[in-house]
Amino acid sequence: MTDRIYYVDAYQKQFDATATATRKDADGVWIALDRSAFYPTGGGQPHDTGTLRFLERAVQVTDVLADEENTIWHRVTTPIEKGTAVRGEIDWVRRWDHMQQHGGEHILAGSIWHLFQGITRGLHLGKESSTIDVKMPFGRLHLTQEETKQLEDLANERIMSDAPIRCWFPSQDELRTLPLRKEATVDHHVRVVAAGDFEMVPCGGTHPSSTGQLGMIKIVEIAPSRGSMRIQFVAGMRALQFFQTCMDAVHLSGAQLSASAVTLPQAVKKMMDANDALKKENTALKAEKAQVLAAELIAGAEPLQGGDILIKAVLPDADMNTLRDIALHAVKQSRVIVLLAAPSPDGTLVTFARAQDAKGDMALLLRQSGTKGGGRADFARGKAGDPDILDVAAASLKQ
Ligand SMILES: [Zn+2]
Repeated sequence: MTDRIYYVDAYQKQFDATATATRKDADGVWIALDRSAFYPTGGGQPHDTGTLRFLERAVQVTDVLADEENTIWHRVTTPIEKGTAVRGEIDWVRRWDHMQQHGGEHILAGSIWHLFQGITRGLHLGKESSTIDVKMPFGRLHLTQEETKQLEDLANERIMSDAPIRCWFPSQDELRTLPLRKEATVDHHVRVVAAGDFEMVPCGGTHPSSTGQLGMIKIVEIAPSRGSMRIQFVAGMRALQFFQTCMDAVHLSGAQLSASAVTLPQAVKKMMDANDALKKENTALKAEKAQVLAAELIAGAEPLQGGDILIKAVLPDADMNTLRDIALHAVKQSRVIVLLAAPSPDGTLVTFARAQDAKGDMALLLRQSGTKGGGRADFARGKAGDPDILDVAAASLKQ
């Protein structure tokens, strides 16, 4: 069993200890200490990292776990012999961040219980943000915008009240009298964490000594997840960093639209409206252009035996839709057969069409000319490997 220094003092960064055991497994070399300030992964809070120094050497602690005998095991980069006296030092930046996120979870979970009787199950402390899953009354999976604001306001009011956060091991008699927000998951040696007079739960984690040190809590997103309501949040320095990232994005977007943070939504709406108008105008212009081109092609068409008129043209800048539009305009003219092609990076785009009173099966013509694609007797299109596809098709029509 290891004496857990952080139970008594979560702010102790350095400590002296003795290696009591060592073991090796697939993950690496582990050593146990008689006492440790290193927090082992548990309760949603990730383990600490840091160094162990002995005989002027320093080894890195890359993982920390507690076993069933309450011994804390430290995974180290170099083996340390049993009986060695070591000085441990935890990575304080990492630990402090975890204390702020974990402490923030208590305040948020307590506030959601107070406001909406939502029961929080589990914390996941991620690299950028943390999540809690909440069982809401009547199976609700969302909060309204108004409720979310209410929740953020209460949580941050509780932070700003700078209430003390106290951790202790009550006797069984005292434990029975405590107004815990949720029941303990262990039977004996229950540790209780209380923030001011508004939050009290069993917890073995590390927390700041007052709510003011949590700085701020910001909800990032609320979404349903496996039948629960999942709240994604940031606390402490992460909340400030999140705010800075958001403001950078707002300023960058605002500068491009000559808008401030407040007027940005209207500026975006204006831009979207202008974009829609341009799209409509572009569609109308394309239709007009197709009509003009079709008229020009009809003027230069070649009469065929039997009375039909053949249009055959390669249009270098056209895409599939442009070819279709031009062809459909052209075949409004009586007896017209139109064979269009446009080069593209992966083959020649082909469109064949004919007026209702013209002869020929365009789908068949497409197949006969070796073009991949399909269609009907009066309209067919596809992609050909042969750049001279139109000559092949025209020769076939004239036969
Ligand atoms: Zn806790």
